[in-house]
Amino acid sequence: MSEIMEMLIRRGFLWQSFEIYGGMAGFIDFAPLGNGLRRRIENLWREMFVINERAVEIDTPTIGIEEVYIASGHATSFTDVAIECRNCGRVYRADHYIKEKLGFEVDESIEAVKAVLQEFDLRCECGGEFGEPEPFNLMFSTRIGPGKGKKGYLRPETAQGIFIAFKRLAEYFRDRLPFGVAQIGRSYRNEISPRQGVIRLREFNQAELEYFVHPEHKEHPGFENYRNEVVKLLDKSGEEHEISLGRAVEEGIILNGAIAYFIARTKEFLLRAGIDEKRLRFRQHRDDERAHYASDCWDAEVLTSYGWIEVVGIADRGCYDLSRHSRFSGEDLSIFIPYREPVKVRKKLVIPDMGKLGPKFRKKSKKIADALKSLELGESESDKDRIVVEVDGEKIEVPEDCYTIQEVEVTLHGEKVIPHVIEPSFGLDRITYAVLEHSFDRDTVDGEERKVLRLKRWIAPVQVAVLPLLSRKPFTTKAMEITEMLKKSGIFTEYDDSGSIGRRYRRYDEIGTPFCVTIDHQTFEDETVTIRDRDDTSQIRVCVKDLREVLTELLSSERDIKEFGEVFRG
Ligand code: AMP
Repeated sequence: MSEIMEMLIRRGFLWQSFEIYGGMAGFIDFAPLGNGLRRRIENLWREMFVINERAVEIDTPTIGIEEVYIASGHATSFTDVAIECRNCGRVYRADHYIKEKLGFEVDESIEAVKAVLQEFDLRCECGGEFGEPEPFNLMFSTRIGPGKGKKGYLRPETAQGIFIAFKRLAEYFRDRLPFGVAQIGRSYRNEISPRQGVIRLREFNQAELEYFVHPEHKEHPGFENYRNEVVKLLDKSGEEHEISLGRAVEEGIILNGAIAYFIARTKEFLLRAGIDEKRLRFRQHRDDERAHYASDCWDAEVLTSYGWIEVVGIADRGCYDLSRHSRFSGEDLSIFIPYREPVKVRKKLVIPDMGKLGPKFRKKSKKIADALKSLELGESESDKDRIVVEVDGEKIEVPEDCYTIQEVEVTLHGEKVIPHVIEPSFGLDRITYAVLEHSFDRDTVDGEERKVLRLKRWIAPVQVAVLPLLSRKPFTTKAMEITEMLKKSGIFTEYDDSGSIGRRYRRYDEIGTPFCVTIDHQTFEDETVTIRDRDDTSQIRVCVKDLREVLTELLSSERDIKEFGEVFRG
């Protein structure tokens, strides 16, 4: 790892944030090349999860008002258990410290942590004893406006911005399910003691898709294309399967077709971004680890020098978020789904008697009457002698003489449903780092060891380097001219005339540039240049007039340069 990190820092992929002030754990700068790489990965994600889905992308504030996170449950339960040393004051995230020192997973509850501390007499690295385990909320809080202001939080996930705009979004999609809404942007989590370098950040980038479905049709129209896709699964009981997604759904390993579809698309995306298939698996959350509102949850995990790390979480969040926001905001967040044909049904309606309700319940009588009117009684409920309704959170018993029950036939044109949501949530920073690790390679070229980053051509931050053989005119002017031409056609191109050509090739191999174009003596005789392939260092000569077309084709495919000219060794 240290060799890769050294290279990433030296070549300008990643830097420690606040470096000149000593740095701070959990923050990292994406330097020019790392930023370029993450942007390309982000665009690939957008292409696959927005443009090629029935989905749109929105952008909502990264600061949220308190109400949002009370409703979502984050204000009370987005916590990890912290343990503080009584001697040196160091604070650890309990489950991570227990895993590191004792080698097993602990339930994330205060009681479980307490029991382990006692049973194993677990101590701090300084030898000190720990105090009582405490829950620590991971949200950064802030105040909005001057003075006492209003309490707010930096968002811990992008998803809530989508749920609270749901009414508008459903309207935008004319209430037609399924539809997806994506958001790409910063999220913030005040991680307790982030010691995993670039993996556990306090400020990071997420790409999330909330895919809203009918609760009874948790499917995706595209799943048919992926039924035979074979994936590596590690189910909640720890059993491994190498199985087609179609069978995994049939056998009930994966809960529904929509989750299976997103597992397939996630795999496709990660491989296209440059993750090594042999170091990728999908792990199902155990029952004791899954969020209480999720009915099934799978993490895409990749093997890195930090061990297996989660890069994507795919969860069936049910109707939890929309129901909670509906309840806390008082807004109806259901959508109306029309039936193909109207349906006639017999219904028992409750008709309030205001003459009786008024004197009995005074100010509350209007709300009670509304609650009664919205009731739907089942077959067996006609002879109820009392009804209980909920008004402003209070359960109120309404006596029999305050209403009558009437049976009527009504024609229904549709039904109201609160959609369920399937959420694939991607951590772009982790994916970027994992791609860098999986692309890192060493080989021998001309008897010399070489470091090479085998990035996918469409992902590389610098796709083409244009190199004049000698750093003087006319080589330099011609090389600059070609650089401009390639940049104009949308190819990420860099010009470089510093140092020997061999050293320049090594630099571009190390930063993963797939092709170098060299302007040499022959260029001025026949208007040709060389294209050198990073992976096997072979070269071809092509006419300058064909260069743009050849490179564009090479960069969007994995075609061999041999197909475009006769190969020679440089
Ligand atoms: P979660 O909401 O915890 O499932 O997170 C979704 C994705 O965000 C994960 O799969 C990670 O890739 C990423 N992520 C979560 N926490 C962090 C963190 N502290 N630093 C970097 N990425 C993170």
